[in-house]
Amino acid sequence: MQTVKDYFGSLVFDDRVMKSTLPADVYASLRKTIDEGKELDLNVANAVAAAMKDWAISKGATHFTHWFQPMTGITAEKHDSFITPSPDGGVIMEFSGKELIKGEPDASSFPSGGLRATFEARGYTAWDPTSYAFIKGKTLCIPTAFCSYDGHALDKKTPLLRSMEALNKQALRVLRLFGHDDVKCVRSYVGPEQEYFLITKEMYDRRPDIRITGRTLFGSKPPKGQEMEDHYFASIKPRVAAFMEELNEELWKLGILAKTEHNEVAPAQHELAPIYSTTNIATDHNQLTMEIMQKVASKHGLVVLFHEKPFAGLNGSGKHNNWSIATDKGQNLLSPGETPHENVQFLLFLCAVIKAVDDYQDLLRISVATAGNDHRLGANEAPPAVVSIFLGDELTAVLEAIESGTPYQGREKTYMKLGVDVLPKFPRDNTDRNRTSPFAFTGNKFEFRMLGSSNSIACANIMINSSVAEALRVFADRLESAENFESTLHDLIRETIRNHKRIIFNGNGYDENWIKEATEKRGLLNYRTTPDCLPHLLDKKNVEMLTRHGVYTEAELKSRYEIMMENYCKTVIIEANTMVDIAKTQIAPAVEAYAADVAKAAAAKKALDTALACTFETNLVRKLSSLTDRIDAKVEELSNALLALYNVEDVGEKGAMIRDTVLNLMGELRLACDEAETLTSRSYWPFPTYADLLFSVR
Ligand code: ADP
Ligand code: MG
Repeated sequence: MQTVKDYFGSLVFDDRVMKSTLPADVYASLRKTIDEGKELDLNVANAVAAAMKDWAISKGATHFTHWFQPMTGITAEKHDSFITPSPDGGVIMEFSGKELIKGEPDASSFPSGGLRATFEARGYTAWDPTSYAFIKGKTLCIPTAFCSYDGHALDKKTPLLRSMEALNKQALRVLRLFGHDDVKCVRSYVGPEQEYFLITKEMYDRRPDIRITGRTLFGSKPPKGQEMEDHYFASIKPRVAAFMEELNEELWKLGILAKTEHNEVAPAQHELAPIYSTTNIATDHNQLTMEIMQKVASKHGLVVLFHEKPFAGLNGSGKHNNWSIATDKGQNLLSPGETPHENVQFLLFLCAVIKAVDDYQDLLRISVATAGNDHRLGANEAPPAVVSIFLGDELTAVLEAIESGTPYQGREKTYMKLGVDVLPKFPRDNTDRNRTSPFAFTGNKFEFRMLGSSNSIACANIMINSSVAEALRVFADRLESAENFESTLHDLIRETIRNHKRIIFNGNGYDENWIKEATEKRGLLNYRTTPDCLPHLLDKKNVEMLTRHGVYTEAELKSRYEIMMENYCKTVIIEANTMVDIAKTQIAPAVEAYAADVAKAAAAKKALDTALACTFETNLVRKLSSLTDRIDAKVEELSNALLALYNVEDVGEKGAMIRDTVLNLMGELRLACDEAETLTSRSYWPFPTYADLLFSVR
């Protein structure tokens, strides 16, 4: 029998395959490109392409594609076959180094936010050799970056790779000051935990709102929701288990380190976590994981919902981005060390993250801003829209002691003399001690919890990497020019704690009082919605920082603002139109039909016996009738609000109008419809209810 060990990575052109199929000099040269970013020469590329093609064909592949991540948030591919006609009327299978390195998809229909006018359709994709090629179906997929011809990034991978490079550069500067001359490279690592809902295909097909928008736009609360909390970590139902089993196999073949699955808090909600890898590979793998999940689900008659808030009144789905930085020597820079020397270094990197998160709260909020995620952030289950850091009581106490120069009141009372004392041991994983913090330290990594379940993790990591790179740059500038390294270092750590401690909060992030304290006393930002936060992407301090590190050009930032805001507007407008349509053509007629039949029944009863009061029928018909009137009125108001958006050119203005009017009207229309649902006979209701959806998978 084949074991996992036999097939793990069998569809990946990974290091093992490269080593065994490439000539030694080609392999060495490719490794240099992968490890050190050295440019690849065309002869090497040709040799790699030939080996890749032979390997892919031996695995049944007939096509190849440059696989990239445009600003739509999903992945894109255009398939070309390997075949080239031969003079004898047959074909030969060809794939050149040129085709490996560069592609030219017709890029005109991908969003570019004005970067590339549609008539200038040409964009190109460029191979990212740091992420292995893999086979999907019959296609060899080559991970690539996607740029316009004048070099602007049109995708999410390019800025991500740039942000990793920025972090590498600044972290190396700091490490040199600590005497680490042997370290060649510093990388950020991520393990993204993915939450999702699973419903049956049959239920999915019968819910037009889910089919069109990914979430329920209507639906009254089921008699049983998540209040019993009996789903969390409960045993997995056979059908779900079968799905997970096949999913694991498919992911393992692709070299994706799927590690844990469990049930989440809401019924029908689950989570999958991989073992962490470098940020760009984790990003590629997360995109691929979502795609494969949907494919495998469909084989099991299931559908995966990645929407951040598919069901009102139930927990939504997020993605926990576990982030750390480590050297090529394997040292995790966010891990408290064994010696005083290591600990000062740890404290400095910790301070860099604290400063970064405080200085760039807005960018972190922006990096997770979508219409879907707005339903989640700030609701009573996900981190609030206010960004803060959880450090745990012990580490916080250490920092306070350092700042004030007072004894540290830990297990033993000690003065913390930087560079002399060993830090006390912190509990390794305090994840469960605080699940309400947006940015939690969990022993040797940070967990950024604000990401929505459908988000690409690229955006969040671009912002984390860049803002930490910026903090390290400021530190390195000061330390490199210091006359006395030790004392400057000491001052720097103390000052950073003093200036940025407002961002540290170990309490309950769901608490209303916290939001008050955060905004009123501490001056932290609270951008509740996407239209609130997005414009700040173009704030001077943010543009300066991101361009300084070469992560984005100013033009790219403007285009991202346009794309993200437009995406927000389009998403809500589609939802609103879908609501209007369903309310008008399905819900109102159903309620009306039921009311008419109830009235008919009452009339029939009265015909039998005029003395019958028919109070039940009369009251019900009155209520239903007033509800259909309300539905009609709200449909009208919402349609008018949507019409008013047509003439608005500026996306920012449009977004604000949607936030201020459209969303409220959608809420009101839903309320009327949901109330009608509770009064209408089930046999008249046009689609499955929440209970049907949530308990459909057995
Ligand atoms: P939980 O948060 O559920 O307690 P873990 O903390 O073990 O579980 O891991 C959650 C995720 O964090 C996993 O994807 C894991 O691979 C990842 N992770 C663990 N260590 C690191 C690290 N040093 N850097 C980045 N991610 C990590
Ligand atoms: Mg976790």
